[in-house]
Amino acid sequence: MTQEDLFKKIVSHCKEYGFIFQSSELYDGLSAVYDYGQNGVELKNNIKEYWWKAMVQLNEEVVGLDSAIFMHPTIWKASGHVDAFNDPLIDNKDSKKRYRADVLIEDHIEKFNDKINKEVEKARKRFGDAFNEEQFRSTNQRVLDYQAKMDAVKARFVKALEDNDLDGIRQIIIDEGIVCPISGTKNWTEVRQFNLMFDTKLGSVAEGANTIYLRPETAQGIFVNYLNVQKTGRMKIPFGIAQIGKAFRNEIVARQFIFRMREFEQMEMQYFVKPGTELEWFEKWREKRLKWHKALGMGDNKYRWHKHDKLAHYANAAYDIEFDFPFGFKEIEGIHSRTNFDLSQHQQFSGKKIQYFDNEANEAYTPYVVETSIGLDRMFLSIISSAYCEEQVGDETRVVLRIPAPLAPVKVAVLPLVKKDGLPELAEKIMNRLKLNLNCQYEEKDSIGKRYRRQDAIGTPFCITVDHQSAEDGTVTLRHRDTMEQERVSIDDIERIVTEKCDIKNLLRQLM
Ligand code: ATP
Repeated sequence: MTQEDLFKKIVSHCKEYGFIFQSSELYDGLSAVYDYGQNGVELKNNIKEYWWKAMVQLNEEVVGLDSAIFMHPTIWKASGHVDAFNDPLIDNKDSKKRYRADVLIEDHIEKFNDKINKEVEKARKRFGDAFNEEQFRSTNQRVLDYQAKMDAVKARFVKALEDNDLDGIRQIIIDEGIVCPISGTKNWTEVRQFNLMFDTKLGSVAEGANTIYLRPETAQGIFVNYLNVQKTGRMKIPFGIAQIGKAFRNEIVARQFIFRMREFEQMEMQYFVKPGTELEWFEKWREKRLKWHKALGMGDNKYRWHKHDKLAHYANAAYDIEFDFPFGFKEIEGIHSRTNFDLSQHQQFSGKKIQYFDNEANEAYTPYVVETSIGLDRMFLSIISSAYCEEQVGDETRVVLRIPAPLAPVKVAVLPLVKKDGLPELAEKIMNRLKLNLNCQYEEKDSIGKRYRRQDAIGTPFCITVDHQSAEDGTVTLRHRDTMEQERVSIDDIERIVTEKCDIKNLLRQLM
């Protein structure tokens, strides 16, 4: 199965099993907006819980916040979003399709990498055990040529971005012969800047109303509450403020399912530090965040670092964690050292002093900020896409979602073998005991095999089958999702066994 086919299957699986629906599907849908169904919302809530507990509960110096989506419009002037939250767009005149010019170039650059990796793999096969990858990469002429070409395009691209040179960006597309994937032609328009913020009107009368924005990131809600939290929480630097919430961006090209949405959710944390110590904290947070991802056990090779070639004007270091999605390695989380840019801007635009008085050093300063910013929906997609698995069982194919047990939407399904002989009543009793603690599902329709498959398809780690023996000796069959193994256990032991495996503590413990 190609990666493209796999991705299509994942998208339709998400719909078929109540994870994700296209928004407004009844009215033919709204582009790049999605609704989370009965299983999707559970998985999403569990990811949020994992993040929140890892950030707020495990770090005593990090506290939470839930700021409003609507904010004073000057905030977006101060943050630079009104003037500079733009993406460069370009249209192909033949296909009439619109693209982000920077993404076209980035994808082109990535192709050089693919070519290099192909050379490396070919050589690995040829040389077998004697293969020295490092030496090959630094000496093979073809690899060196690709690398030189890639570096040259990258350098031109970074310069054009830094100079805000839209003609220069277009020229790279022309010179590199980048074609529209749909029409296959190089018939491109000029490159234009497009602001990604949605606006709306505050107040009931349109004429007298103020234009306000739907926040394009949650971070500014944290910055403008820095003083409130620091003072009321008597916070000592270094400390952090974490927030989960919706963000909105009028993305030029919305594709790849929930990877790029117009309404999405972010989980962000701003960590306020003493100036001069920011790079130290930046490294610490990079390490912590990667550990958080890896604890899920989806495979360490699924992650890689991407260092920003072009830093935002306010940043002095920035890395992304990229995940190996079915459509390649793409950003899932950004870790940025944002200096004191945001707080200083808000100080200037509001006219109010935003500082911290350091009692020990007996000095006041504007704190520097290290930010961790992860997209909840991208995280969701990473989990679903690495969990999705088709395997041959006898002469049928079983689709199973190997979601880490603590994040699984349903932890345990309670299934009476037949709909009579008092088995449903006993199953209900078990269910009533378990549901105080765990999200359970009760199912009595269809054969037991079919019911197991349905639970596999939504990633339920355990199924309990209540049969005639259960009524006699108080035991049930416990079936494990991943191995399909079945064991006979006492009804009194179920809660302990399931809780042990599904407890979020299993993930959190790995972060200590
Ligand atoms: P990209 O380069 O992919 O547009 P970005 O660098 O603009 O992303 P940030 O501004 O750093 O993204 O936002 C932080 C995180 O928010 C990203 O790492 C990503 O997980 C998530 N995110 C950003 N834009 C979207 C979107 N349109 N849909 C879903 N998630 C998003």
